[in-house]
Amino acid sequence: MAIQVTLLGTGGPRPDPRRAQPAVLVEVDGERYLVDCGDGTTRRLLDAGIDPGSVRTLILTHLHIDHCIGVAGFVYAGWFAGRDSLRLFGPTGSEELAQDLLHRAYGPDAQARLATGRPAAGLTDIAAAMIQPGPVLESSRCSITALRVPHNAPTETYALRFEDRSSRSVVISSDTTYCEPLADFARGADILVHEAYVTSDNWGKERPGFRDMLRSVHVTPAEAGSIGRMAGARRLVLTHFPPIMDDAAVAEEASRTFGQAVTVGQDLMSFEA
Ligand SMILES: [Zn+2]
Ligand SMILES: [Zn+2]
Repeated sequence: MAIQVTLLGTGGPRPDPRRAQPAVLVEVDGERYLVDCGDGTTRRLLDAGIDPGSVRTLILTHLHIDHCIGVAGFVYAGWFAGRDSLRLFGPTGSEELAQDLLHRAYGPDAQARLATGRPAAGLTDIAAAMIQPGPVLESSRCSITALRVPHNAPTETYALRFEDRSSRSVVISSDTTYCEPLADFARGADILVHEAYVTSDNWGKERPGFRDMLRSVHVTPAEAGSIGRMAGARRLVLTHFPPIMDDAAVAEEASRTFGQAVTVGQDLMSFEA
């Protein structure tokens, strides 16, 4: 048994030729969980050799557009590939998102396809379960728990902890400003995937005050490193980057506070806990 983590998208909301928008695939002994679903997620699943139809659980950490704009594409791609059930977990508003996409925006398309005799299961029967702080779901292979983190999404934002039956663990920060409770939540994690959106070299040209605003809802690589060190994480993987950044400088900045080398995430990198 092991937990496999694959970074599907390591970018943020801004278009980036190198990076898809946020998404992480977590596999626990073959059981697949997709965390977030930004633009490019389905493409990256295919790039990773993963059949979208084989992913039956989608967890949205929050409803910022870069974390959920790919939901309809992922739902349809999996359904076309033969998936007949999909569980969706997310914060307040996830049920409305699913309803709006699958019954209103794309409802007529779905009805036209269903009229040809295709089964509806896996397309129009997707209901969202609301995440609450604490246990999210429990399977024979792992448990998933959530911690609410401070961010500026329309509703709650959750970090997630996956733990298998051998106590191996993976924590995903989602988008968050500096959050010490997250270090407790990530205590002893084998892998901590932490955002690090506020890199030092790219925000100076923005409008005045923009970097300060960003700092109030995201973290710098140095802050991500501090959380990783406080958590005692064995491995720190940084993600959620703007298009213009110096990978080496980010690695250097975060490793100083983490106390050891960090990994600057790239799309399709995969790690085993
Ligand atoms: Zn984001
Ligand atoms: Zn966000």
